[in-house]
Amino acid sequence: MKTVYTFVPSPNHVYPDHPERPARFDVLESRLKSFDAELIDAKPATPEEISYVHNPTFVATLEKVCREQAPGIIDYAPTYVTQSSFEDALLAAGGAITCARAVLHGDANNAFALVRPPGHHAEPERAMGFCIFNNVAIAACDALTRGLERIAIIDYDAHHGNGTQAAFFNDERVAFLSTHQWGIYPGTGWIEDTPHAKKRIVNVPLPARAGDKVYEQVADKLFVPLVESFKPQMIFISVGFDAHWNDPITMLGLSTAGYFMLAKKVIALAEEYCDGKIVFVLEGGYDPVNVANGAEAVFVAETGQGTSEASDPNPHKEPDCDSRIEEIRKWHGF
Ligand SMILES: [Zn+2]
Repeated sequence: MKTVYTFVPSPNHVYPDHPERPARFDVLESRLKSFDAELIDAKPATPEEISYVHNPTFVATLEKVCREQAPGIIDYAPTYVTQSSFEDALLAAGGAITCARAVLHGDANNAFALVRPPGHHAEPERAMGFCIFNNVAIAACDALTRGLERIAIIDYDAHHGNGTQAAFFNDERVAFLSTHQWGIYPGTGWIEDTPHAKKRIVNVPLPARAGDKVYEQVADKLFVPLVESFKPQMIFISVGFDAHWNDPITMLGLSTAGYFMLAKKVIALAEEYCDGKIVFVLEGGYDPVNVANGAEAVFVAETGQGTSEASDPNPHKEPDCDSRIEEIRKWHGF
């Protein structure tokens, strides 16, 4: 077993008082060497690779804004850019591509792209929600250009992966499942938003405080039938540690043990259906300790070495989501 990772901390992509900041990686960085995984160099994504997902006019405009008007805010989330953000975003997307190619070529069993800025809100025509380019979508498209025919992307960041959904809205080669807290940014991702794509685009809106028990049910009753029916050749995970119960900007209820459970479940699915091919790509997560503990949980699950040691159980009572999960299963015919 070999696990590789890329690390793109983008220290110059920073804005005063913004939660998506380099300090997110401060605790993680000091612990990277303790993980049983090999660092590989991220190469910047090329314009052609970015164009798998994004409109070239948007990309050209974004580059010009970074060169001529940065630093500044470019959307209401707020999403910011600095003079280095264009290059930082190319390297973040490249970090995801580099991981995916290592797994696809058999140089590694699995991988983790620890990159920022994050990507899953970025839509084909616009940067959005702290995201510049959609790292996971670009890496998935790169794998499709290299011969894969079916890919599943599972997104368990606290927010809806609207950008990834938009990238593959009409692309039958990619299945997408997003779990997210309902009622928060960006407001999309209701169960019935994509009636044209039943069993392919699955939205799992969850109430505040949904935590380890709910997510375990979601994995068993929704991740499993999606992967079983779609039969992907590779799985990508948009993992955001902002679904942790003490994340400063959301109100979900996962603990680090919950993140470990989820990583083990999706890795088991990849082993059963995809010859183990799985790539985790970091999205959000705004508490540096949660990011470090969550990343450790993913690495421990990927390498199969040791156990995740952080103990931070959710102190809040979880809501019952059985009927919500049943409703989603019924809508998709699972
Ligand atoms: Zn998020």
